[in-house]
Amino acid sequence: MRAAIYARYSSDRQHERSIDDQVALCEKHLASLGGGSAEVYADYAISGAHLASRPSASRMLEDAAEGKFDIVIAEALDRLSRDQEHIAAIYKQLTFAGVKLITVSEGTVDELHIGLKGTMNAVFLRDLAAKIRRGQTGRVKAGKVPGGKAFGYDVVRQLDARGEPLRGERAINDEQAEIVRRIFKEYAAGMTAREIAKGLNNDGIPSPFGGDWNASSINGNRARRSGILYNEGYLGFIIYNRVRMVKDPATGKRISRPNPPEEWLVEEAPHLRIIENDVWEAVQARKATANAKPFRQRRKPPHIFSGLIKCGKCGGGYTAKGGGYLGCTRHRESGVCNNGQTIKLETVEQRVLGGIQQRLLAPELVEEALKAYEEERARLRKEALGNKKKLVRRRGAVQREIDACVRAVLDGLLSDAIKQRLPELEQELAQLDRDLAALEDDNPLVEFHPQAAAAWKKRMEDLSGALKGIGPDKSQAREIIRDMVDRIELHPRLARGQFDIQLFGSLPGILNIMGGENKLGPKSAVQLVAEEGLEPPTRGL
Ligand SMILES: [Zn+2]
Repeated sequence: MRAAIYARYSSDRQHERSIDDQVALCEKHLASLGGGSAEVYADYAISGAHLASRPSASRMLEDAAEGKFDIVIAEALDRLSRDQEHIAAIYKQLTFAGVKLITVSEGTVDELHIGLKGTMNAVFLRDLAAKIRRGQTGRVKAGKVPGGKAFGYDVVRQLDARGEPLRGERAINDEQAEIVRRIFKEYAAGMTAREIAKGLNNDGIPSPFGGDWNASSINGNRARRSGILYNEGYLGFIIYNRVRMVKDPATGKRISRPNPPEEWLVEEAPHLRIIENDVWEAVQARKATANAKPFRQRRKPPHIFSGLIKCGKCGGGYTAKGGGYLGCTRHRESGVCNNGQTIKLETVEQRVLGGIQQRLLAPELVEEALKAYEEERARLRKEALGNKKKLVRRRGAVQREIDACVRAVLDGLLSDAIKQRLPELEQELAQLDRDLAALEDDNPLVEFHPQAAAAWKKRMEDLSGALKGIGPDKSQAREIIRDMVDRIELHPRLARGQFDIQLFGSLPGILNIMGGENKLGPKSAVQLVAEEGLEPPTRGL
């Protein structure tokens, strides 16, 4: 597999390490696909509008046409261009050359992505989150600690060479480091987290978050690697990307999700070491024994929406309570949330899957969505055509004025006014010619619609086919749905056992576009209401 990487630095919104970050991400992605080295094409563009301002992109397309590589990897589609029509043009050329386009954030790019990009707010939000992660990746590489401050360390306030505050520098706080060592030592010696917390409280030692120490801030959560006893940072490592923050577009609240260890980024930072290896290992060995549970309890078979179902009141998880019922975890375990309503997992599955299926299967809705897409394209086409007409009209007027000047000069009339005006006009004419040529070059009117629509329809057909097959084997639907649904919120109604269900992610974005109302509006939730099945999304979601 011969590969090329394309990266673009845009001065108006990225910090200056951007290209390196992009290339590093693309290389990692390439390695995960089994690829080796790749030719790198990078542009430093002020704006992504014209291919002319991005020589490497043009060179990449030429090399693609000459068969120099089989795949192109970019961080995201909008690295190729921020303009949907240009993305479509580039995609078309690559496809024609038999070159596959893969992005880190979208995966293998197909007509579906090309067609829907730019109309889907939910996808945009997800992209944005990934970009913020990428920015933080750059910082960890430079030995800085991203995100929040861990107990045991101080933030170092420094300015860089240009006088800008340096972010992410840390140094050991000796007093807190002593407490960290005490906790590890006591745990390794056999004390429980509860006993350790009690001892710290008795000694009047303040906890990291103010208030009293408790067992969970010491013990933490194994999957999230939160808590003092799980913090590898104390061994002198900076670990980034353990969790990712996902912003809820409806409430603006940030929610964290654990990432699998293979996505972690680890850098050595020996100056930040607080705990020695032998103590660390003794603690981890004890924790492993404490976590070991009888086999049947350890792992319940994950259901199709595992980890996605959230309490609409507090944002906490809705997890199994026994008897096939789900309840708010925070209500059950800490009493922080007052939502005591429970619902059968089966009911949630039926209503969500049923709702999706109902909308997907309505052919008139597919037609409606395609119509909306076509209308948007027609609008863009009209706009581009309008621009071109304006330029042509102005060019005619300028040319006529030049002709008049020339006639006057030929008639022996060379005034100062003409001497001054003629060069101005010639300059404007040249600029208009360049603008018109740019419009032609960039070919903003690529016909793309038929393929995009077909690909979109196929994805929806795959999904509905998979949904119909729901039974003992839900794996195919599971895969498609988990890829396109970020979160399912359960909002209890006043009547006992009744819930409004809201779906978030890119799938609801598509369902909303298909739903007809406010087709291209920035909505990312779809509402599935008790008994009535699926309702049009509520305004303002
Ligand atoms: Zn709750």
